[in-house]
Amino acid sequence: MNKMTQYDYDLIVLGGGSGGIATANRAAEYGAKVAVIEEDLLGGTCVNRGCVPKKATWYAARVAEAIHNYSSSYGFNVGDISFDYQKFLESRDGYVSRSRGSYTTRFDKNGVEVIEGKGYIENPHEISVDGKTYSTNYMMIATGGRPRPLPIPGGELADNSDDFFNWETLPESVLIIGSGYIAVELGGALAALGVKTTLSIRSERVLRSFDHMLSDELMPMMEKQGIELLTHHHIDELRQKGDQIEVIVNGEVERVVDRVIAAIGRDLNTENIGLENTKVQLDNKGFIDLVEGHQTHEENIYAVGDVAQPIALTPVAIRAGRQTAEYLFNNAPTSAIDYTNIPTVIFSHPAIGTIGLSEEEAIAKYGEDQIKVYTNLFFSMYASVGGGRERNKFKLVTLGEDEKVIGLHGIGEGVDEMIQGFGVAIKMGATKADLDSVVAIHPTGSEEFVTMR
Ligand code: NDP
Repeated sequence: MNKMTQYDYDLIVLGGGSGGIATANRAAEYGAKVAVIEEDLLGGTCVNRGCVPKKATWYAARVAEAIHNYSSSYGFNVGDISFDYQKFLESRDGYVSRSRGSYTTRFDKNGVEVIEGKGYIENPHEISVDGKTYSTNYMMIATGGRPRPLPIPGGELADNSDDFFNWETLPESVLIIGSGYIAVELGGALAALGVKTTLSIRSERVLRSFDHMLSDELMPMMEKQGIELLTHHHIDELRQKGDQIEVIVNGEVERVVDRVIAAIGRDLNTENIGLENTKVQLDNKGFIDLVEGHQTHEENIYAVGDVAQPIALTPVAIRAGRQTAEYLFNNAPTSAIDYTNIPTVIFSHPAIGTIGLSEEEAIAKYGEDQIKVYTNLFFSMYASVGGGRERNKFKLVTLGEDEKVIGLHGIGEGVDEMIQGFGVAIKMGATKADLDSVVAIHPTGSEEFVTMR
């Protein structure tokens, strides 16, 4: 179906990241005439300076761990070890560039046009790029976010995650400010690759918004890995000292490091795109306010991804984009998606997987008497074969008498590949008894989720 009206396009998508690309392809598959405006590389944060190169770095760190921690106990004599970061970058960046190439191929196949440059919304039906104006029936805002600057004197001396992916060499020492996904993931990877790594955490724990069991388990493991964790730590200032950076705490130089990375959250790309020329509104947290599904206060303008909701995850943006395209061009009844029970993984060492409510959130929401929690602590077989010990811990949070599973959390070997299927079960309303009814796969880590007592 082609909704072509008096406009140049049926849909113009502002932003060629995961959400925008998914929307554009799905819409074009239904015959819509679509253009994507992107000023940088197609693929946005995830492909170019997020999930994809991060996961490659995590794999590199896993190889390092296998060599250093496990190879000899499994009988391998690996001799002298050296790590060639440039060689790794060649492999990683090659993979990233091939991933990006697949977007262009798909766009070509679907007839999606790419307009290179910065788009500015002139009015609800027109966007200009470099002085040229394009008209459209529908508009989609999928402009994403960017690393938040560090708000202290000398904050500009800190790199951010974008900068990290442009590093050509590894420093000897790094201080990471922050305690969320990025701080934990980069900290774990850098330490495994031999960088002296410190985390500056302003509260008492990392991953504070997740079930506390996860950080209770992860933090001692990070320390065992050689990562220095500074809790309740507040930095006044950063100062350049030669090639290094002085970290000032309580007015004194506390340490000198080669690099600082700020990983303190992200700001949204909602400025300077012309929102003031539309009825689009921001909510009190700065997200684009949605009226119905992913529709903004301007009837023909939709928004998905980081700019439009607080769950800044690529697959969420993709799901929202595709659903909006289904709504606009394939008669789907709604552009809304279900934001509950979204599985997510933190690529720590070992990985963390989590779905639904933490124990703390569940108790706050339903009251302690409604919540029953099951946990299993075990030691990963991978580490144990050679006599090592790596604690893995899983938890189920259940609600009410029928013990409906409303939270599933795990830290351990292979958890990253384990939880997607449990996400299906939880979405279907699984109870603890449903999980128990499944025969375990032995010997695996995942069997611990179906054998809890
Ligand atoms: P997060 O929101 O995950 O964490 C930000 C952290 O920064 C919080 O822990 C907060 O600490 C801390 N913080 C905030 N302000 C300051 C400050 N001024 N000084 C010191 N610490 C501060 O953000 P990230 O930047 O780590 O990641 C951005 C988003 O990207 C994530 O929320 C996630 O949605 C996405 N992402 C997803 C990944 C995945 O799926 N595996 C991987 C990487 C990113 P406190 O706890 O004290 O509030």
